[in-house]
Amino acid sequence: MFDYQPSEQCLANKTILVTGAGDGIGKQASIHYAKYGATVILLGRTVAKLEQVYDEIVAAGHPEPAIVPLDMKGATQQNYQDMANTIIDQFGKLDGALLNASILGELTPFANIAKQIWDDVMQVNLNAQFYLAQALIPALQKSASSSLLFTTSGVGNKGRAYWGPYSISKFATEGMMQVIADEYDDSSIRCNAINPGATDTKMRQTAFPAEDKTKIATVEDIMPAYVYLMSDDSKDVNGQRIDAQPK
Ligand code: NAP
Repeated sequence: MFDYQPSEQCLANKTILVTGAGDGIGKQASIHYAKYGATVILLGRTVAKLEQVYDEIVAAGHPEPAIVPLDMKGATQQNYQDMANTIIDQFGKLDGALLNASILGELTPFANIAKQIWDDVMQVNLNAQFYLAQALIPALQKSASSSLLFTTSGVGNKGRAYWGPYSISKFATEGMMQVIADEYDDSSIRCNAINPGATDTKMRQTAFPAEDKTKIATVEDIMPAYVYLMSDDSKDVNGQRIDAQPK
């Protein structure tokens, strides 16, 4: 696993937005960020799940989070702008954004990719990342040191048969990360992409239903890289694809 031992409260006084915060990796990252002192803005489409994460964070005595219910499939660019303005009004700045929510679509031969699946995957995995990044950069610029973190995949820099729209959306996500990282190289914003590697979540179970779950990482296992990339210890890391499970 990624070797990083965070100091207690390494994220104190930081406000961090997490998309897809109600389940899987996003849920665990939200709880970890709060544990290390951050105020977490929980964005997701299923309010009951976000409320469960909220309750867990508050019960543990961590800083009270905020909830943003938003379905990234239907959300407009204006919805993201409004959210970013609210973040600036309420918190004054944003120190981190983990753009984590994604959908798998369907694993199918390229010739059989349905237009609707293509459109949905591109909307959630790519267009929404663009709207989010563009809307959030002004809030991130108000922090002395901020981290914009996209989420990629093992198929995000090497194409794989049958992973069509998902794989292609992750390639584009890595491209967006590199463009932003280059443009903001001399600024207080750093921009990277994290590759979680095989991790036991609903998405992984959908892609590999017959897999022995005990042989892959848990969401807990991969958290050191997620915390590192939000902490000031990574402030000089920019434009990188980081493996949460280096080989
Ligand atoms: P997951 O368990 O399926 O969780 C995805 C999260 O995204 C859920 O909270 C889900 O909300 C949310 N989401 C999906 N569509 C949304 C929408 N339209 N609007 C708002 N939120 C939406 O997946 P995961 O495995 O944790 O994946 C997290 C990230 O890691 C993804 O970017 C994925 O591509 C990447 N990744 C995962 C693995 C792995 O092995 N798990 C490997 C490589 C990359 P609901 O709970 O409401 O459905």
